[in-house]
Amino acid sequence: LDAPLFADVAGDARVSFEFFPPKTQKMEETLWESVQTLSPLGPRFVSVTYGAGGTTRERTHATVARIARDTDIPAAAHLTCVEATREEIDAVANDYWDAGVRHIVALRGDSPVAGTKFQSPVGGYENAAALVAGLRKLHPFEISVAAYPECHPDSPDAVADLDNLKRKLDAGASRAITQFFHEAETFFRYRDAVAKAGIDAEIVPGIMPIMNFASVQRMSAMCGTVVPDWMGTLFEGLDDRPAARQLVSATIAAELCRRLYAGGVRDFHFYTLNRAELSFAICHLLGIRAKTPALREQAA
Ligand code: FAD
Repeated sequence: LDAPLFADVAGDARVSFEFFPPKTQKMEETLWESVQTLSPLGPRFVSVTYGAGGTTRERTHATVARIARDTDIPAAAHLTCVEATREEIDAVANDYWDAGVRHIVALRGDSPVAGTKFQSPVGGYENAAALVAGLRKLHPFEISVAAYPECHPDSPDAVADLDNLKRKLDAGASRAITQFFHEAETFFRYRDAVAKAGIDAEIVPGIMPIMNFASVQRMSAMCGTVVPDWMGTLFEGLDDRPAARQLVSATIAAELCRRLYAGGVRDFHFYTLNRAELSFAICHLLGIRAKTPALREQAA
């Protein structure tokens, strides 16, 4: 950490990017520009989220299928258990398999009614572990699941939360991607707890470059992520200064990644919010450079 800024990076970091399905034509254009900006960096995969209650089922499918068809990046589809029977979810998964999608991010999801607890749908998958087991029976998908460095709000404690993670991995997931967090120490503590629990699967930190501090505060409160005081101070007075805010955001996210890298982390998952520049800049600082398609194939 005392080395000059990013002088210790060796170009050995690997990244993945998360997008959400676009709602409008304009948003679709922004998404595709972002995919085109980020794909030369040779991500391990890009994933597309699934809206609450399956509300984005068609849009998620269309976006993932297009990435699978029109780019050489492995595409991953998020899938949740919310408000659907097992048969309906299996049908969505079969459609993905038929479209050439081989990677699913398997999630429980949340209640579509804000402030109410998730209820297992009648005839549905009761949680992410059950979904993973169901997907395993269908096809040899690569499966990623969610992990919570600051404990999921529905978990009684950190031990129960780790037990739940273990169930998902034992059911057939090969990697966990974490909820976003704001301090590297939060991830390191979690990594130690995961190892102590006997879990040796890959735990990839989810990095959320902050576009809008107020909305990150709201999201953090909902998912139990602590927002440190110093972060509020750094965004003070920047509400009407988007360019300055962007520089501050990039600095904070880059510093988080620098600390993670110094602590041995080599895989990073970026919540891009469909905007490429911040994630691109951070990858650049991490020593990742655009690769030709041939080099990308070699790296894969
Ligand atoms: P699970 O792992 O099934 O469980 C959540 C909690 O419930 C656990 O902590 C566990 O303690 C408890 N629990 C589960 N089963 C049991 C049981 N049998 N007994 C006791 N306790 C139990 N949401 C979306 O809607 N769409 C997305 O695309 C999306 N993508 C995400 C991507 C990532 C990387 C992450 C981290 C989250 C994402 N989410 C998404 C949010 C996610 O759906 C919520 O965090 C949700 O509340 C939990 O989902 P899960 O898969 O972690 O659930």
